[in-house]
Amino acid sequence: MQSDKAKKETITIIGAGLVGSLLSLLLAKRGYKVRMLERRVDMRKEAISAGRSINLAISTRGLIALAEVGMDDLVLQQAVPMLGRMMHARDGALTFQPYSKNPDEYINSVSRAALNKLLMTRAEATGQVEIFFQTRVDGCDFAAKRLQCFDESKGQSIELPYEITIGTDGSASRVRDALIKLPGYESDSSRLDYGYKELVILESNLEKNALHIWPRGNYMLIALPNFDGSFTCTLFLPFKGPVSFESLDSQDAVRDFLQAEFADAYALIPDAVQQYFVNPTGHMDTVKCYPWHYAGDVLLLGDAAHAIVPFYGQGANCGFEDISVFESMLSQAEAKGHIDWQKLFADLGQERKPNCDAISDMAVDNFIEMRDKVGDAGFLLAKAVEKVLEREFPGDYQSRYSLVTFSNRPYKMAQDVGAACERVLGQLCVGLDDPERVDLARAKVLIDQELRPVIDRYRSSLTPLT
Ligand SMILES: Cc1cc2nc3c(=O)[nH]c(=O)nc-3n(C[C@H](O)[C@H](O)[C@H](O)COP(=O)(O)OP(=O)(O)OC[C@H]3O[C@@H](n4cnc5c(N)ncnc54)[C@H](O)[C@@H]3O)c2cc1C
Repeated sequence: MQSDKAKKETITIIGAGLVGSLLSLLLAKRGYKVRMLERRVDMRKEAISAGRSINLAISTRGLIALAEVGMDDLVLQQAVPMLGRMMHARDGALTFQPYSKNPDEYINSVSRAALNKLLMTRAEATGQVEIFFQTRVDGCDFAAKRLQCFDESKGQSIELPYEITIGTDGSASRVRDALIKLPGYESDSSRLDYGYKELVILESNLEKNALHIWPRGNYMLIALPNFDGSFTCTLFLPFKGPVSFESLDSQDAVRDFLQAEFADAYALIPDAVQQYFVNPTGHMDTVKCYPWHYAGDVLLLGDAAHAIVPFYGQGANCGFEDISVFESMLSQAEAKGHIDWQKLFADLGQERKPNCDAISDMAVDNFIEMRDKVGDAGFLLAKAVEKVLEREFPGDYQSRYSLVTFSNRPYKMAQDVGAACERVLGQLCVGLDDPERVDLARAKVLIDQELRPVIDRYRSSLTPLT
């Protein structure tokens, strides 16, 4: 135990990505000195390589964490609100599906790089945070409390001592690699057999305030709006198979494929084939590990602790929520006059792990849903009935999507509520062809039977509600 009044520890954060940078800001705000070690060069001084721009949908959880350091409004000023999904059929027909009947509930398209740069700049401006670029961490001696690093600018190995270190070094975390060599630590990683590639639409008349989706069964294109009017598209395809990154290996094959499947989008990207071959193909990993800490010295947060696939738009939101929970536990400990870091780290992992596992599983479910079910009549009917229930039973019927995206209720609650909603919808949809004719009296009984007990179980949740 340490008296935080006497002296605050210097915290070493590994990885100045989104989570590391926001965390450094929060710690600086609480009076800690922070040293951040970042493998890459300073992204504020070099152009982002083509095809690696990535737009993020930032939603309630992310905004709550940003608000804690007074940055939510600033981020929203650079964001494009997306009020719903715009579905593009093969024949070009458009269907708009709002995310919510409540006009205040939408998601925000933000450039990942712009957000990262903003957070780094704000962190440095506190005078409490120093970022060491081109400093790669390769290993960690937990007993000696020393990091083995490589200074890429000088081409030399260095060892750095630490008091407390937090690994926010992303899905391929070296800190996690070192931790899981210790007895009692577990890690499980899996890679989707689908990859993704970015394509950019520079000019278009696409609806700006929407997330555009071209669902095509085994593959899919999405497009998120940028502040300058362009759109960043992501093409998801299997790595192998009859239509895959492997099979689309010639200019003709790619052109024919894009023209046949995504004709309206293809018409907006004159150099789509060229972009396809120039831009890298990304992969998508799920990582689950536990515990996330070593004694009171080392902690993992963000993708380093729980990388998830991007199909719920929650990876960064979830990492930011780690920071909100950390902040609340740290402030409680500080209020007591001392910080037991080991207990704080253990409590944090225990609170977050089931929730991060839940969003991880829901993200994979969403991938399967988007890939296999969006054209399925039964699935679309259930979604339409869900909208009717949200309208008719406000407060009583809560969908999984809205709990994940527009609240900071525990992800595990959203997962359990989602399972209950499926049971309700499954029963209401039998023999139904028009969602507006759903039996509302029976719906009320089913909501009371299936959904209410789940919601009640979480009423005592420690997480404050928005
Ligand atoms: C295609 C795609 C779409 C996505 N869409 C969304 C979305 O809509 N909404 C959302 O919330 N999330 C989304 N995500 C997820 C989101 O990008 C991640 O969850 C988020 O970036 C994780 O932040 P992080 O700081 O934990 O890790 P990262 O952003 O990966 O940052 C890790 C940092 O650590 C550095 N680093 C790595 N190794 C070392 C080392 N050994 N030594 C020193 N430094 C190191 C890296 O250079 C990097 O700067 C998406 C991801 C992808 C791939």
